[in-house]
Amino acid sequence: GTPVGGPQAYAVAALPYQDPTLPVPARVSDLMSRMSLDDKIGQMTQAERGSVSAADVTSYRLGSVLSGGGSAPSPNTATSWADMYDRFQNAALATPLGVPILYGVDAVHGHNNVVGATIFPHNIGLGAARDPALVQRIGRAVAEEVSGTGVDWNFAPCLCVARNDRWGRTYESFGETPALPSEMTTFITGLQGSALNGPASVLATAKHYVGDGGTTGGVDQGDTQLSEAELRAIHLPPFRAAVEKGVGSVMISFSSWNGAKLHGHQYLVSTVLKGELGFTGFVVSDWNGIDQIDGAPGASASDVRAAVNAGIDMVMAPTSWRQFIDLLRAEVQAGRVSTARIDDAVRRILTKKFELGLFEKPLTDRSYTATVGSSAHRAIAREAVAKSQVVLKNSGNVLPLAPGGKIFVAGRSADDIGLQSGGWTISWQGSAGAITPGTTILQGIRNAAGSGTTVTYSRDGGGIDGSYRVAVAVVGETPYAEGEGDRPGSLGLDSTDLATLATLRASGVPVVVVLVSGRPLDVAAQLPGWNALVAAWLPGTEGQGVADVLFGAVKPTGKLPVTWMSSASQQPINDGDGKTPLFPYGFGLTYDGSPGDTTPPTAPGTPSAGDVTSSSVRLTWAAATDDVGVTGYDVVRVTSSGETAVASSATPAATVSGLAANTAYTFAVYAKDAAGNRSPRSATVAVTTRPDGGTGGCSVTASTQSQWGNGYVVQVTVTNTGTS
Ligand code: BGC
Repeated sequence: GTPVGGPQAYAVAALPYQDPTLPVPARVSDLMSRMSLDDKIGQMTQAERGSVSAADVTSYRLGSVLSGGGSAPSPNTATSWADMYDRFQNAALATPLGVPILYGVDAVHGHNNVVGATIFPHNIGLGAARDPALVQRIGRAVAEEVSGTGVDWNFAPCLCVARNDRWGRTYESFGETPALPSEMTTFITGLQGSALNGPASVLATAKHYVGDGGTTGGVDQGDTQLSEAELRAIHLPPFRAAVEKGVGSVMISFSSWNGAKLHGHQYLVSTVLKGELGFTGFVVSDWNGIDQIDGAPGASASDVRAAVNAGIDMVMAPTSWRQFIDLLRAEVQAGRVSTARIDDAVRRILTKKFELGLFEKPLTDRSYTATVGSSAHRAIAREAVAKSQVVLKNSGNVLPLAPGGKIFVAGRSADDIGLQSGGWTISWQGSAGAITPGTTILQGIRNAAGSGTTVTYSRDGGGIDGSYRVAVAVVGETPYAEGEGDRPGSLGLDSTDLATLATLRASGVPVVVVLVSGRPLDVAAQLPGWNALVAAWLPGTEGQGVADVLFGAVKPTGKLPVTWMSSASQQPINDGDGKTPLFPYGFGLTYDGSPGDTTPPTAPGTPSAGDVTSSSVRLTWAAATDDVGVTGYDVVRVTSSGETAVASSATPAATVSGLAANTAYTFAVYAKDAAGNRSPRSATVAVTTRPDGGTGGCSVTASTQSQWGNGYVVQVTVTNTGTS
């Protein structure tokens, strides 16, 4: 006889909601007309895979299952992920209405819970790369790998605007200005594809709404104390951009705004996000996030009521999902949560499920399974790594490294996939070790150096002697995620790394420091002793990209996505706040002085427009505390036909005379030694006060700094104001 129930029976039943030729709103309405309150509440519920069985998915008609950070099937392979996904999905299809689940993961820098997946740089590195089109390609690659394991939904991108480097999620941020995360919403376009029901489309999540990166003290899940105007100016723009890109879901932040939890914030969630910004997707809570609303531990009726009434559509209740279902049912029955609100939530969720084409193709598309960790995706990651390197110091052009001779490599981060990948890699917190296949930075250096170069590695620096040309120290942070990475105290290198560096320094061999970290570290005290410093961020599995830049196969183009502190006590330090950084937001050197390298950093730290006499301008720059044997400085004028010396000085200041009014000048500064060898100064050149202390005469009407070679040029326009 004909089977009753089960997916086969419904597949042939051709109810309106099952008809792919009908418009999505009609399908949603038809389906909802057939749903009980329990069916609807089930759709609003998300459980964690370790706390839910396939049978539970069927009996409770759950709307969603997630893998929290590191939660994976065993064995942890792409194929067993796909098998697991299909098992859960088949359980959902076995419900009377056969509504598919959405399976969600945090694929925040690649499909990072899956052993063998391509691990891309964490967002802070992509912010340094400043390449929205590249980020879109990464989104596409991630979507293919995620689709190959069946998964439909990614809790990414994190669009936090990280304002305090003490925060443990700083590396999940594309940068400290609203503009950078907004530009990188191309990740959403990549992930979701051109149409949600297209090939390998994965639903994106803009998170964490809103102000997660602005908490006082950089405390994870803390309180963002800002006026509404400030919140809107700094933290809202990336979400506006995400909505414009059609992001399918938004995750609420654990944090509060002026003491009020975002998870219960009706004004910000419903009025601003859904109303003003016009967000039509669905809102998901963060992990047990609603439990914090009323301050009492655990989920309560008041938490559930506040969250759903605020506008949360789906609740991530990883282990306590049964309790959530019971509490919400009781609130609806008591009339404290309206059925209209429930219907709005369910309509939003089902709309995305239909748009994704889940009803038509609910099971894993195994044609994408082989893309997990594919060489094509690793090539994109390597490109991203190279583009994310920020060269911060390069005294005497020690970089790029030439092949030949002997190179010494040291530091615990040099040969460790786990350390170079950081948190959210295989496990939630990440860990040291060979946790997934990839190329370490040391392997990358060996490949790039080639057979004519001797590369010696010693983890702690022991064994170095004067026969080495250069020492590359790969040091930095050990992995962490979320609040475990909050650093209320020191932001410096730890004693292990400092000891390694001291050993290298004692050898007298030039030291190139490659910093593997999720944020700027407080290195001002050590920097004078280093010949070069490269911020590698958390590059992921493709360490070859770091070597590409060290050896000059790729010219560095990365620019700081965050301001680099002079000392930890400056935190929070951000672009334009008047504090003096070690390196400003937007800073980054490259390897040559061709005009193509004079692109101004986004915010060059504008020199103060000083008074200028009709015929002279005074320049000052930082003293050369780190250059050995410096006897003085030359100031040159740079024109298209070359450089002309215009002033010399024994001290870090010089007056350049003989300037014509209404003329633009470009100057650069070199330090020189007794033999007359010059090295460009990477210090800031500033126009300061009129040498004679007076005012009037010609004035500097424009003075901008740009990166040029290994230093800066300052461009000065002198305008004759008619008096002198
Ligand atoms: C994090 C989210 C993440 C969620 C699910 C939470 O702890 O804050 O960013 O998406 O876990 O793993």
